[in-house]
Amino acid sequence: MSYRAYKYERELKELKEKESPDGSTCLISLYVPPNRAIADFVQELSDEIGTATNIRSKFTQKNVVSALRNVIGKLRLYGHKAPESGLAIFAGATADSGHKDFKLESYVFEPKDPISRKLYVCDNRFHVEHLIEKLGEKDVFALLAIDSAKATIATLKGDHVQIIKSTRSGAAKKHRKGGQSSVRYARLRVEAIARYLKRVADEMKQYFLEDAKYELKGVIIGGPGQTKDQIIEHFDPRLRDKVVGIKNLGYGGDEGGINELVENSEEVLEGIAIMEEKQLVRRFKDALIAGKANYGEQQVRENLIMGAVEVLLISESVNKTRVIATCKNCNHIIEKTLDPIDVDNFSSTLQKDQCSQCKSVNWNVVLKDLIMDLGDLAEKTSTQVEIISSQTEEGRQIESFGGICVILRYVVT
Ligand SMILES: [Zn+2]
Repeated sequence: MSYRAYKYERELKELKEKESPDGSTCLISLYVPPNRAIADFVQELSDEIGTATNIRSKFTQKNVVSALRNVIGKLRLYGHKAPESGLAIFAGATADSGHKDFKLESYVFEPKDPISRKLYVCDNRFHVEHLIEKLGEKDVFALLAIDSAKATIATLKGDHVQIIKSTRSGAAKKHRKGGQSSVRYARLRVEAIARYLKRVADEMKQYFLEDAKYELKGVIIGGPGQTKDQIIEHFDPRLRDKVVGIKNLGYGGDEGGINELVENSEEVLEGIAIMEEKQLVRRFKDALIAGKANYGEQQVRENLIMGAVEVLLISESVNKTRVIATCKNCNHIIEKTLDPIDVDNFSSTLQKDQCSQCKSVNWNVVLKDLIMDLGDLAEKTSTQVEIISSQTEEGRQIESFGGICVILRYVVT
């Protein structure tokens, strides 16, 4: 999984858990559909600030107004209209785990999948469910069910199947009626089928390459006969390279065929994710032999800071916390990686420790998940980051190297 997808998913899940102080209604969720006029939303939120004067609790009223002002500020950064896929903004006072303290937070998302509807909610939680629903739909596949009489093209996005087009071959039946020369009949049929295959291949090219609104992950083809194998020769090379599965079906080139193809595609899709991980792990092991790889947090961190890393591979099973403590007096920084269970202990001990530089005892402590800490560091140096699952053999190999591995751009001495 790419780091971007991992991070997005993780941020949304963290946002889902956040609560307002004592359950007060002061957390704003705003969804702006693609290309909508920003001014309309600024106006609407300004009206909400006016309405907020009716809120009886002064505490809630203050927090609602701050959150609304914050959202308006974020909106204004976009100029006249919302981006092409729209945006979602969340803002408000969120409580810490014991509801002892709270702070104003805000988050802006520009999702890959367009925001489908407008939403404004002020509640005691953030409404992220519409974005979470779309998480499973990251990759788009082209489906083609085909036989010699009919073809149906569809897209598969998560569990969602959309039929794009059905078309008939127009070729005559396999067995001729009496009266025609059998040789001529067979030749006409072969020619008609070739034209039909070319037509379907052109339609696939048009839809998935020329008019494509997204990057295609793969093409899966199915059907009862040989037509499904023959059509590949007619594909644009770019589509041919993306064929990840060819399936024998009981159904033909209609919707029934598409449905059967979807049922059969699960293992293909799983196989792709595993194959990508396999390739990455193989690359890592080859690089290790060539001296162009490294592992272990300390080494990897140094390589990342040098900008020497091409690919960072992190196992999703890495469960550590990076503690970053800053002296509030002189900005001296102490960083340490700990097991999550040891963090509280470390923090409370630290609060009694003197700063080695200025001798004051006043620390600001920030906690970061180690995967996110290294991922963010890698992104700063345009390093490709891959989160490796822990379910597969390849994942376990990465775990055996401590779960943190890098393929280097050059040999580091
Ligand atoms: Zn200090």
